[in-house]
Amino acid sequence: MHRRDSLRASEIMIDRALNNEKISFKWNSELVEIHGDQETGVDAVSIISHPDGHPTKRESEGKTVETERLTVQGVFYGIGHIPNTSFLEDTEIVLDEEGYIQTDPGTTHTGIDGVFAAGDVADSVYQQAITAAGTGSMAALDAEASLEAQPEVEAPIQ
Ligand SMILES: Cc1cc2nc3c(=O)[nH]c(=O)nc-3n(C[C@H](O)[C@H](O)[C@H](O)COP(=O)(O)OP(=O)(O)OC[C@H]3O[C@@H](n4cnc5c(N)ncnc54)[C@H](O)[C@@H]3O)c2cc1C
Repeated sequence: MHRRDSLRASEIMIDRALNNEKISFKWNSELVEIHGDQETGVDAVSIISHPDGHPTKRESEGKTVETERLTVQGVFYGIGHIPNTSFLEDTEIVLDEEGYIQTDPGTTHTGIDGVFAAGDVADSVYQQAITAAGTGSMAALDAEASLEAQPEVEAPIQ
């Protein structure tokens, strides 16, 4: 299901999906309700559609949308990328206007000593598994260096 009538992805991935006989597409459609219960699980979804796409937006503009109930056994919901960083808003960690954590260039250092950021949450551009893992490795090394720079503290005698 996609809220427009075309996909925004690499051509090769689009072709694979469109040519996969196990996948059928519902264009210009959005999920509005999941039906089922805790015991039997998901059994249906309600979707709305509009020929110009973005049906929830069209509905909010007063346009008529079509509603359909589909029998399904599960839902995998992929709705874009919003960094889950709102809990950092009142801290010294700097976020950009979209909520991505800002780090010092070439490092994983944030605005707070001893706090490091890695992965998609600190990267609005690449967002790949390998880049996330790479910055994860950088964060581990930055954390180690930060700990080594701390003055030695004697362990308390138990
Ligand atoms: C549909 C899709 C297809 C993709 N395909 C590819 C691909 O083909 N190749 C590729 O390289 N990359 C791909 N990616 C991107 C890749 O998955 C990401 O770049 C990578 O997973 C980022 O890793 P991460 O550890 O930064 O974040 P995530 O993998 O998103 O991990 C973040 C984790 O933090 C958890 N979390 C969030 N908030 C909190 C909180 N407040 N407290 C505790 N835990 C929290 C989340 O539940 C999650 O487990 C794809 C992504 C998507 C969505």
